[in-house]
Amino acid sequence: MRIVLLGAPGSGKGTQAKRLMVDKNIPHISTGDMLREAVAAGTRFGQQAKGIIDAGNLVSDDIVLGIISERLARPDAQDGFILDGFPRTEQQALDLTELLDQLGTPLDAAVLMDIDFDILMKRLTGRRTCSATGKLLNVYFSSQEELNECKNAGGELVQREDDNEETISNRLDVYRTQTEPLVEFYRKRDQLKTVDADGTIDDVYARFIELLS
Ligand code: AMP
Repeated sequence: MRIVLLGAPGSGKGTQAKRLMVDKNIPHISTGDMLREAVAAGTRFGQQAKGIIDAGNLVSDDIVLGIISERLARPDAQDGFILDGFPRTEQQALDLTELLDQLGTPLDAAVLMDIDFDILMKRLTGRRTCSATGKLLNVYFSSQEELNECKNAGGELVQREDDNEETISNRLDVYRTQTEPLVEFYRKRDQLKTVDADGTIDDVYARFIELLS
């Protein structure tokens, strides 16, 4: 299965992709995660990317295409993959199509995670990661039990640096202007599927699986 997950920041792409990765035994490839790793590693490139990411802007198409080409060439991506956060511009979508055509492995689908703006804001501003367990939580939506679990494990709830309100509103603007047109891009190619991304993680995952079956 080769799929692209489309959807605004906070629509749940990463959460659903992680589950799908385990169930289907195919890699979850997130350009955001890869860029954050480069930032954490403190490479020269990571230092340049940090300012762009923290402001909620997009890293250049050339850079992300380079990262993705290398990643898709690895052995574990030969039997399928879930792309999360890539493509994000029309140029990236064109480059991806060309890359996959060359490899003879076209996409099966681009899945749009469809969600209301108000819910997105809560998901993004409330999003935290437990420093002890690595679990993704949300101060608005996670149960008290889940939040306590982190505390009891000696962890703290850490917020991503680009999850503050100012950066979030820029990230949503960037999504609307640069990434949302990809919905039409994939619709025109008959590759678009849409999933209602409102609801619990389990509910959305069930819809997801049904859509892909
Ligand atoms: P994400 O974790 O997918 O929300 O990505 C976090 C940040 O990484 C984005 O706000 C961008 O600054 C950068 N980024 C991730 N994927 C891409 C991409 N495909 N093109 C350009 N920038 C990206």
